[in-house]
Amino acid sequence: MLKLPTCPHCHTIYRYGDVRRELNKKVSVCYNCGKKFKPSKKKVWILFLIIALIAAIFDVFSLYMIEGLSFIGLLAINIAAVTAGYLLIPYAVRFKADK
Ligand SMILES: [Zn+2]
Repeated sequence: MLKLPTCPHCHTIYRYGDVRRELNKKVSVCYNCGKKFKPSKKKVWILFLIIALIAAIFDVFSLYMIEGLSFIGLLAINIAAVTAGYLLIPYAVRFKADK
C-alpha cells in the first residue's frame, strides 16, 4: 500500500519531493510524457485513520504499562504518530489519469 506514486500513463516513478509539489496542484502534467493526471488523496485519509487507530491503541497500552506516564509523554507519542503520518503522505498518494 505504501509506495511512491507513478504516472498513470508512462509509469514514471515520482520522487518524494516531486510528489509533495504535485499535491498542491489540482491537475498535474507529467514531466516525462506530458500527459495530465490528478493526485488522489483517498489513501492518505486511510493512512491517517490507521495511524489514529495505532496511536489510540498505543496510548491505552502505555497508560497501563508505563507507570507515572505524564500528559506530556502521552502528547509526545501522539505528536510522533501524526508526524510519521505526515511524512508518509507521498507514499499514500496515487496519481489518476485525467481525461
Ligand atoms: Zn507520464
